[in-house]
Amino acid sequence: MAGGRRREYLEAIGIDLWVPRTARTAPAPLAEAASVAPGEAAREESAADVSARWQALREEVLHCTRCPLHLTRTQGVFGVGPKRSDWLVIGEAPGAEEDRRGEPFVGAAGQLLDAMLRAIGLDRTRNVYIANVLKSRPPGNRDPKPEEVAACLPYLVRQIALLQPKIMLAVGRIAAQSLLGTDTPLGRLRGRVHYFGELNTPLVVTYHPAYLLRTPGEKRKAWEDLKFARNLYQQLTQGTVNGHRP
Ligand code: SF4
Repeated sequence: MAGGRRREYLEAIGIDLWVPRTARTAPAPLAEAASVAPGEAAREESAADVSARWQALREEVLHCTRCPLHLTRTQGVFGVGPKRSDWLVIGEAPGAEEDRRGEPFVGAAGQLLDAMLRAIGLDRTRNVYIANVLKSRPPGNRDPKPEEVAACLPYLVRQIALLQPKIMLAVGRIAAQSLLGTDTPLGRLRGRVHYFGELNTPLVVTYHPAYLLRTPGEKRKAWEDLKFARNLYQQLTQGTVNGHRP
């Protein structure tokens, strides 16, 4: 991305470029990742197969009654973006606006997320897929219940199997803890590479844009996370690390 545009986006997310930042040293987890053996290769499928399975999965989600959230939602929110993307961003659950429009991360938090993603060259219309752990809105935007996450997570796992992203970015505590199966505070999950699922997809954690809107002082940390993820992605695609768990 050209310097001028990056400046524009960083200003949009509230990052002051003229304030010196401490350079993040090469993260230890990257070194760990460099020494790992490759896992099993993903099963080869034709584009038509993938497209058919994607559509079937989408229909399943839109008609799902696996948990009580189907009783109160307006519609299921499957996700948005190209079906084969290197990047997968995962949030917690649809809010009121997402429930109404059927798309994740719309409204003010969505606009901030889009600005954050654009700052590292990502756009939901071109090269990043965006989804949530829960596909249906919890009433009153309450936190998801563990049994709701357990009911819904298999859908995301199937989405990941079809998308085969090279890197995942979990935004917010609920998404990060749900995906990693931990109750470790978000602050301690940041700044390192985790791995998700059978494909051992590298996963980086950052703050939820709704939290950043309430706590703008944390935007600088979110920018550090984005740079960390971008550097990891560059190393993954350049082959200087591989994407598998040590
Ligand atoms: S949240 Fe998930 S499991 Fe629950 S009804 Fe919606 S799609 Fe089904």
